[in-house]
Amino acid sequence: MEQSSRPKVITGNWKMYKTIEEGKDFVTQLIPLVQNSPAKVYLAVPFTAIYSLAKEAENSPVTIGAQNMNDASEGAFTGEVAGKMLKEAGAKFVLLGHSERRRLFKEDNFFINRKVKRALQVGLQPVLCVGETKEEREEGRTEEVIQAQLKEGLDGIGSELLKNLMVAYEPVWAIGTGLNADPEIVQSVHQFCRQFLRELLTEEIANQLIIQYGGSVSLSNAKNYLKEPDIDGLLIGGASLSLESFSQIVNDSIHKL
Ligand code: PEP
Repeated sequence: MEQSSRPKVITGNWKMYKTIEEGKDFVTQLIPLVQNSPAKVYLAVPFTAIYSLAKEAENSPVTIGAQNMNDASEGAFTGEVAGKMLKEAGAKFVLLGHSERRRLFKEDNFFINRKVKRALQVGLQPVLCVGETKEEREEGRTEEVIQAQLKEGLDGIGSELLKNLMVAYEPVWAIGTGLNADPEIVQSVHQFCRQFLRELLTEEIANQLIIQYGGSVSLSNAKNYLKEPDIDGLLIGGASLSLESFSQIVNDSIHKL
């Protein structure tokens, strides 16, 4: 599939920001602003806001999802949330393996793999986040780390099931630091991911798969990424909290391609 035939997907990751009311304000104002954008607009919101925001965004170009889930179908896991609960609340997708989850909550590839399987089972689109640390990059281990995250994260899942997968490449050193990665570097990592996924899945599925970049994306640098052939979208933390910057990234970046 030609690069141009993959849709662009711009995802906001609100992390632990925005109450239900703040989220509703944001989404009601965002919808008309992005109504005519050719990009798909995703928002990964706090658990508490999923139900209300999914209702708010019904029949709109905005898709609401979650930032994490547990791997079990249900059980005695105090404080955890199951995939089927997210699905029922109206989430359409779920971020899995975000570096903040890997680093702060010690999630490993095997746990994330079980979550990917559960997400697919309950009908949530998994967004598998991968990325190397500063040390791993300096040691020349970027490809090795990302290959392991993809291989172990997707282990034992048939290619057909992964048609709907998205991958987000987020170098850990670029997240929330203001040190966004060079678009050429990102393009080469995305190319590597797609090539590896051609071998792991099928050529056809890998060619269709959306691979997003995330890490200090802002209004001033967003469009540089979307010009690259294997960068199909953006996963945006800080800049997705402001209606102005997020909606402008969605609109400007795409229109100025
Ligand atoms: C993120 O949360 O996934 C992220 C990329 O954050 P930021 O854009 O703030 O670097």
